[in-house]
Amino acid sequence: MQNFPGVGVSPGRIIGTIRQMPKPVSEPPAGEQLPAGVTAEEATAALKTASRTVHDQLNARAEIASGDGKAVLEATALMATDSMLLKSAAKLIGRGTSGQRAIWEAGSSVSEMLHNLGGYMAERATDVLDVRARIVAELRGVPAPGIPSSPTPFILVAEDLAPADTATLDPEKILALLTAGGGPQSHTAIIARSLGLPAVVAATGVDQLPDGTEVYVDGAAGLITVDPDDSQRAAADQWAATASLLSAFNGTGATADGHLVPLLANVGGAKDAVAAAKLNAQGVGLFRTEFCFLERDTEPTVEEQAAAYKGVFGAFPGKKVVLRTLDAGADKPLPFLTDATEPNPALGVRGYRTDLTTPGVLERQLQAIARAERESEADVWVMAPMISTAEEAARFARLCAEAGIKTPGVMVEVPSAALTAEAILREVDFASLGTNDLTQYAMAADRQLGPLAALNTPWQPAVLRLVRLTVEGSAAEGHNKPVGVCGEAAADPALAVVLTGLGVTTLSMTARSLAAVAAVLKTVTLAEAQELARLALSAPTATEARALVREKLPVLEELGL
Ligand code: PEP
Ligand code: MG
Repeated sequence: MQNFPGVGVSPGRIIGTIRQMPKPVSEPPAGEQLPAGVTAEEATAALKTASRTVHDQLNARAEIASGDGKAVLEATALMATDSMLLKSAAKLIGRGTSGQRAIWEAGSSVSEMLHNLGGYMAERATDVLDVRARIVAELRGVPAPGIPSSPTPFILVAEDLAPADTATLDPEKILALLTAGGGPQSHTAIIARSLGLPAVVAATGVDQLPDGTEVYVDGAAGLITVDPDDSQRAAADQWAATASLLSAFNGTGATADGHLVPLLANVGGAKDAVAAAKLNAQGVGLFRTEFCFLERDTEPTVEEQAAAYKGVFGAFPGKKVVLRTLDAGADKPLPFLTDATEPNPALGVRGYRTDLTTPGVLERQLQAIARAERESEADVWVMAPMISTAEEAARFARLCAEAGIKTPGVMVEVPSAALTAEAILREVDFASLGTNDLTQYAMAADRQLGPLAALNTPWQPAVLRLVRLTVEGSAAEGHNKPVGVCGEAAADPALAVVLTGLGVTTLSMTARSLAAVAAVLKTVTLAEAQELARLALSAPTATEARALVREKLPVLEELGL
């Protein structure tokens, strides 16, 4: 039995066969010529056959897809046999360039041309790059890039997943996610939890297993085992039988003695918000607005933005919706706001800071939010990401007031903001702890890097202390401003109890985690949660803090969490 230990980031015990996510297609060397003995006619014919195959493969996938996914696949399929693309590649082949290099260069020119046309055409620019990579893969006889398609469900294994990969991820077809890289706050982890899929990250070597290998996955314990034994088969059967118990949240987050902790949802757009409302989320604690525009390379208009925001507000009439202004940069680049050549993007011009280099975008977003709010019934709160100082908080509050936004707030995800929470919270009405970034900055450990996963956990004593400082800052001078948590820490049921004990007022998470967090929270009184918070704070290491708290919460083992 071969084990691959990793970091469990989304619970579930399951057995299935794996499929590896193909590696990205590398660029054919510049200046690559036709191989000796291959004529231009032969190379052009081979290119045409490959492009036709790619076209047919994409069309076949479009036929079984639905909605937005279908339209995207159909448009991409057409691009594969686009005459301008193929003609300019044929011209290069005629001059002696190899077929792979020719389609690569032709793809670049067509993509650049579409980009320069702007609007809808500009959005097709990335489709051309996708198509050219597929054609090169076909010419090389290697698997096409992107999520593999399969008639039967499988466990997806990847080095790591980017937000863009999720667009084509069909949750009906994927049983679990395993990555060799990535950390507990990586996008793979966030995606897995939002889809309710068991997941293990930072499992070194798992990306070397051959397709078709049968594995057992325990997404809470962080374990992957090749050739599962009988006890693991029994554990997977048991999980299948009890998982349904964790799918229902009754709509009120509270401790055993009735201390209310509203459980809110993290959403990226209207679709998520509607799904979260169905799962009885008590509101939205984090609306990641940049997720509405990840594909855009130009700034969306005020009208487009207002429509996207109204879609979310409309799912929660009369309820709280905390919207975050665009958090572009680092792992979420937006070409109209961020500079792809920055040497150190996580420490660069990202989040609120993009207002320094691209003034006006924030003001227009605030106008769009105010407009959407006027046209809906949600109780809209607005916060800025990556706030580091009280001056920034004050300026953001002023911009909100000018736009007619009533409840301004900040995310606390930079250690300086936690350390100066008292001054910051004098300027705004609330704070929300972004524990994903707060952890990566407190530990100076990139949240996307698998080898740093052990540093990158919000159980770290340093992170728990920053949470406590923020809560203390919010209570100073008796102003008692609300402090929520919207990082992934809130979705860990044991940590949710600790955060409650530390005085956090709301917990926001992917809607799929609401039921599990509620189920664990209701087994402790507030005094017990406070005691567990003290216990966690007293532990010298993250591992001990987690182990000590989990030991006092037997319900976790009972529920397989
Ligand atoms: C965070 O940093 O904890 C957070 C919620 O924001 P994001 O994960 O979108 O950076
Ligand atoms: Mg963040």
